[in-house]
Amino acid sequence: MPKTIYISVDFEGATGIVSPRQVTMGQSPEFERLRQRWQADVDALVQGALAGGADRVLLNESHGTMINLMADHLPAQVEFISGRIKPDLHMCGVDSGCEAAFLFTHSGAGIHHEGVLAHTFINEFYRVRINGQTVGELHMNAALAGYHGVPVALVVGDEQTCREGREALGDVLCVATKRGLDRYAAWMKSPNVTQRELWEAAAEATRNASRFAPFRFVSPVEMEIEFLAVTAATASSFIPGVKRTGPRSIAYRHEDYRTVYHMGWIFQLIAQGNYVQQDRL
Ligand SMILES: [Zn+2]
Repeated sequence: MPKTIYISVDFEGATGIVSPRQVTMGQSPEFERLRQRWQADVDALVQGALAGGADRVLLNESHGTMINLMADHLPAQVEFISGRIKPDLHMCGVDSGCEAAFLFTHSGAGIHHEGVLAHTFINEFYRVRINGQTVGELHMNAALAGYHGVPVALVVGDEQTCREGREALGDVLCVATKRGLDRYAAWMKSPNVTQRELWEAAAEATRNASRFAPFRFVSPVEMEIEFLAVTAATASSFIPGVKRTGPRSIAYRHEDYRTVYHMGWIFQLIAQGNYVQQDRL
């Protein structure tokens, strides 16, 4: 069977990125400059995976509009998924045919002052808990890979992201692209250095893909979301099976983690609705 490496590519974790205007398409000329920087990091991961023995690399875009990738120069072994809405969202396309997953992500298990642009899926989610424990996208995306029996072999982001990755996943390779000084400030190395580190880690993770273990949540899985807005909790609680647990929070429980993950996406859409936005605290 061909060795497939799956890469979920978010944006905030890339070398050089510290500000919301650098990650929002069309908002400032800065975006296009940082997009090149981000693409270079993605390319280093792809090239490293191929050098490490991958026969096929599947890239899935997981940031914002999810149409950020500049694909013209991608090698023939690469397939990619762009756009939204799509099944499994940040982990669209991952399945049991993948040898390992890489998460190019950002921190967000709760609000960390050292996590650069830290958030869990959207800023409108103040906190997400799974089975009582605060989690970020890293945990939720790793668990969706684990749902399909796929381990996460490499985590890329700021130092806080790497801490969260090691705490949650144990044996995992991590590359820190920056050290957060605040939510909107970081201490960074030359992109030439981080790019080399990404290439080397991707090659090593691919070579040793079979040593990593899939990450899973215990079933039934209960997800509790604390929103910024009261109205988001009210609207979400109208869905059958969703329980109101506080002024700004709801909980949803299901045997099947993939169903819980998809419900998380529905709660995002509700929280980002125009009417709900007027109620932001
Ligand atoms: Zn993002």
